[in-house]
Order: sequence, then structure tokens, then C-alpha cells
Amino acid sequence: MAETASILSPDKKVIVPDVLAGCPMANMITAADVRRLKKEHPDAAVVGYVNTSAEVKAELDYCCTSTNAVAVVNALKDKKEIIFIPDKYLADYTSKQTGRKLISWNGYCPTHVKILPEDINRERKFHPFAKVMVHPECLSAVVALADVVLSTSQMGKYAKETEAKEFIVGTEVGIIYRLKKDNPGKEFYTASERAICPNMKRTTQEKILWALEEMKEEVRVPEDIRQRARKALDRMLEII
Ligand code: SF4
Repeated sequence: MAETASILSPDKKVIVPDVLAGCPMANMITAADVRRLKKEHPDAAVVGYVNTSAEVKAELDYCCTSTNAVAVVNALKDKKEIIFIPDKYLADYTSKQTGRKLISWNGYCPTHVKILPEDINRERKFHPFAKVMVHPECLSAVVALADVVLSTSQMGKYAKETEAKEFIVGTEVGIIYRLKKDNPGKEFYTASERAICPNMKRTTQEKILWALEEMKEEVRVPEDIRQRARKALDRMLEII
């Protein structure tokens, strides 16, 4: 995400409090892997999730988020083939929503795959009136059990706008704090206590303070990669 901020705002200084707080799913695919896929499918459009490195983004035709993946793929009606990387579960969900066969990669979020179908079934028994909302990075079997499939930002909006008072939440547990804070009259239950992302937890308040005091570590994307990656982000913004 820091690289994406730098790609979009090259004149601004972007710092990260912990350089090891990257996304493990993003590390599951390299730019060389994408180039190989493009060689195997020369006519395919390449769509990549925002959780990818700057080098990978430089190989994409379109970037997407979990909020707009379906809209981006739907906009590519004239493309015969679409490569969708790196998350195979987001690819599966997007494929089912759009009716498009997608060429996916064997990437996944190690945190979201810890939420199992039995977790959803168990929590439903405990909270029979709760709405089950899960992230599309979850296992396809978990997505199939949900009432709604939403990105993190969509979960915040849905919790506020729907009349339901209780929610079972299938995503990284950290969102529960925010949902409770924003919706004091409602109850939120995590689908699984195992859904903790160790990399996200590396960023602490102290580290943010130290990063601001020292203004480091700075993230800067080489200009040639930045310009190519920017095109994929711009094309996404043209669609949504
Ligand atoms: S929860 Fe962690 S591993 Fe999963 S997508 Fe987010 S940062 Fe990456």
C-alpha cells in the first residue's frame, strides 16, 4: 500500500513504520511470474489486485481492489481472455459474479483462509439473527455460506446502513474494533479468532510515532516502474 501511495504521489514522502509489515499474499507472485503468464496467454488482459508489489503492478493492464474487482472484469467485455492475479479466491468469487472464466494464480491470503466453513456454521448457531458478512479473499466454501460478500470498506457501510443489529464478520479480526466504534448500538462477532494477520499487527502506535519522529523508512518506487504501474491504476480509476 505504501508503494501504491508513492506511485500515485511521487512528489510526496511516504514512510512505513515497519518495513516487514508487507502483505504475504503480495509476495506470492513476482513480475517474472506475470511475464510468463502473459507469454502463455498473449491475448489476455491482465488484472491484478492492489495487494501486489510495484514491479507486479508495472506488468498489469488493470489494477483492482476487492471493492471493484467485479466492475473491472465486467468492463472488459471485449477481452477474450483475462488473467486475474494473485488471489485465487478473489478470482473465483469475481468469476462467479461476472460469469467470466478467469486465468488465476495460486495465491491466497494466509489470514482469510483460516476462516473455515465450520466457523461460520458454529457462529450462526450461537447468533441465529446475525447477518454473516465475509471478505471475498475467504475460501469459496466460506463465501458460499455468507449472507453478503463485501470488501472491508463495504462492510463498514453495510453495518451502518442495514437494519440488522448483529453481524458475524469473516475477515481480519482488527476490523471488529472499528465496526463496534462506528456502530455502538450493534453487535459484531468475529467468525474466527484465528483470522489475525501477523504482518498487519507489526504496525503499532509506537512504531508510527518513531517513524514520524525520524521520518523513515521511506518508500520510493523507481521512476520507470512507477510510470508503468501508474497506468494500471489509472485504467482502474477510468472504469469505476
Ligand atoms: S490480511 Fe494480511 S496477508 Fe491477508 S491480504 Fe491483508 S495484509 Fe495480506
